[in-house]
Amino acid sequence: MSAIPFVDLHAQYLSIKDGIDAAIAEVIRTSAFIRGPHVQRFEQEFAAATGAAHCVSCANGTDSLYIAMRALGVQPGDEVIAPAHSWISTTETITQAGGTVVFCDTEAEHYTIDPARIEALITPRTVGIVPVHLYGQPADMDSIMAIARKHGLWVIEDCAQAHLARYKGRQVGRFGTVASYSFYPGKNLGAMGDAGALTTDDAALAERMAMLARHGGLTKGDHQIEGVNSRLDGMQAAVLSVKLPHLSSWTARRQEVAAEYGRLLAGIPGLALPQVAEGREHVYHLYVVRHERRDALARHLAERGIQTVVNYPVALPFLPAYARLGHQPADFPNSHAHQSRILSLPLYPEISPAQLRAVEGAIRKFCDDVSGQ
Ligand SMILES: *Cc1c(COP(=O)(O)O)cnc(C)c1O
Repeated sequence: MSAIPFVDLHAQYLSIKDGIDAAIAEVIRTSAFIRGPHVQRFEQEFAAATGAAHCVSCANGTDSLYIAMRALGVQPGDEVIAPAHSWISTTETITQAGGTVVFCDTEAEHYTIDPARIEALITPRTVGIVPVHLYGQPADMDSIMAIARKHGLWVIEDCAQAHLARYKGRQVGRFGTVASYSFYPGKNLGAMGDAGALTTDDAALAERMAMLARHGGLTKGDHQIEGVNSRLDGMQAAVLSVKLPHLSSWTARRQEVAAEYGRLLAGIPGLALPQVAEGREHVYHLYVVRHERRDALARHLAERGIQTVVNYPVALPFLPAYARLGHQPADFPNSHAHQSRILSLPLYPEISPAQLRAVEGAIRKFCDDVSGQ
């Protein structure tokens, strides 16, 4: 069996090569490199796909979080609550916007922000919450929105890993004040470079975000405020428009692969499989298992040509970037326990049944050997 990559972007490209090549050629032919008709078209298509009234595109999924926070008026001293376990974009943008990061522990089995721990973190300075639908599983949005409403907080949903995921039948991104998306190449909907977007039903907020992303002005030369340069380019928009119609079938395939992993890996001693909470639909950006001897398991798989990734090896509060906050493991017991045990297995729509069985065989051998010791 040949090596099994963690993701295979080239396989996806080959499956839609004609459409992608034609779309890129069209952007070159029309020189519509920055903004332009392809960008406008994708914004409309993505709003329709997510059910939002407005979509504002930008350069990447980190800028989208930053732009949302600026548009919501984050001020120095404002506290924003975010999960202790995520990609650093979720919280570095709070600081960039001028706010203060307040970390919250995550759920033991679902890896998303634990609503039971949010209220204890709320102070008179708290302005918002940034739940992350981590790995593709929606956070517990009913509980989070109830807390937000009670305390008058805004909510930015970080949907970077959860395009089209549903919570109690409703798409993620439809609960909070605004939703942030990344189209980084490896995401469930990925460009061929950096790209991001924001969705909201609030027309005034959408206009403020569009303005911030374009140097503070919607018309050239008319700068209402100081903004940033965060534009989606035409090439990426054209690529995304070709890919968007395939997103539902790719998502369904991810869910089939996850179900197959679930059948193959069930009952392997010492291996914890992903758990999906009642009412939440997981879109499996990542298929994350846990094992006490995670690093040895990853090495064992690597030696057999199976590539895995740790998303993420250090929970955010324990990174040097947040040493100033002086957090201890006991502050975030679940996030801390997860950081040494989690392992993301290869998962992409094009992965074959034989590859899944090869991953299973290698994991089973390691786990059986370890548990038999
Ligand atoms: C990928 C990601 C981002 C940032 O997206 P970029 O497009 O890489 O800037 C933000 N939050 C989460 C949870 C992500 O996974």
